[in-house]
Amino acid sequence: MDISLVVPAYNESENISQFLNAVKVVLQPTGLSYEIIMVNDGSRDDTLAILVEAVSENAHLRVIDLTRNFGKEAALTAGLDAATGNAVIPMDADLQHPPELIPQLIHHWREGYDVVLCRRASRNTDHWLQRWFSNFFYKVHNAVSDHAIPPDVGDFRLLDKKVVAALRLLPERRRFMKGIFSWVGFRSTVVEFEANERYAGKSSFSGWKLWNFALEGITSFSTLPLRIWTYVGGLVSIFAIGYAIKVVISTLVSGTDLPGYPSLFCAILFLGGVQLIGIGVLGEYIGRIYSEVKQRPIYLVRSRFGFFADE
Ligand code: UDP
Ligand code: MG
Repeated sequence: MDISLVVPAYNESENISQFLNAVKVVLQPTGLSYEIIMVNDGSRDDTLAILVEAVSENAHLRVIDLTRNFGKEAALTAGLDAATGNAVIPMDADLQHPPELIPQLIHHWREGYDVVLCRRASRNTDHWLQRWFSNFFYKVHNAVSDHAIPPDVGDFRLLDKKVVAALRLLPERRRFMKGIFSWVGFRSTVVEFEANERYAGKSSFSGWKLWNFALEGITSFSTLPLRIWTYVGGLVSIFAIGYAIKVVISTLVSGTDLPGYPSLFCAILFLGGVQLIGIGVLGEYIGRIYSEVKQRPIYLVRSRFGFFADE
């Protein structure tokens, strides 16, 4: 097998046939052998029925049906685990990732790159707030983590099978794929593309979900938020000692004056807030440790369609 496309799908019933057609139009003329692995991530619509029907008409299509919605990152992992191609291309089912780019990715792969990243040339399909937040996220993430992730590069990319094998070695349950992709390294190059509007349906990622995704990214690849409290505590203590010395001296020189209730109140509130933030950050990491030590599988498969070994 030359090429495996890995496509997570959650409530994508209106996009599937269009997606499969677009892929066929692009890949058929290349003469390469390819498979399309679509992972049904517990869709609530008739995505599965449409996929199963498509399997009987499309010899390239394989379908993995997960037992429930595990989230995009887990669905992607399920697809990567099943991929057998020499090159693997994860992409979205909503046609936001243009299949027309695939030949260009393959071209760079043949030049010897193990990873070909696709960077969105502009983000004009996004709301300005989303754009601002996304820029801010990449800045913060790359400032605090040991492994920078390239901005505006999503999961759409080409991975050599060596890279996929490396990804399979990472056992973590909480999978921030962008970070994981960057952590494994390898020789990479970037191509630019213009993301399309979603063909049909609506995005599963918005507001609160994206915020949590951003936190996930930072806590997955940085321990700086944990370590920073040592320094915050250190600075506050130094300040407290300095202030104590000042109080002692001024008491010796000019006696006591009782006023000071507002400053005391502010100090208590401020320190209380700082301590709670520190505890919250600890909680964030302990939560992650908890979900890792349970050693639960990343996803569960209910059934598979179109895989030769199963039939
Ligand atoms: N997706 C998924 N599981 C989820 C949410 C999304 O498999 O819980 C898939 C979805 O079907 C699509 C891809 O992930 O193929 C990207 O999702 P979406 O288009 O909603 O996100 P956006 O493009 O807005 O970031
Ligand atoms: Mg999308």
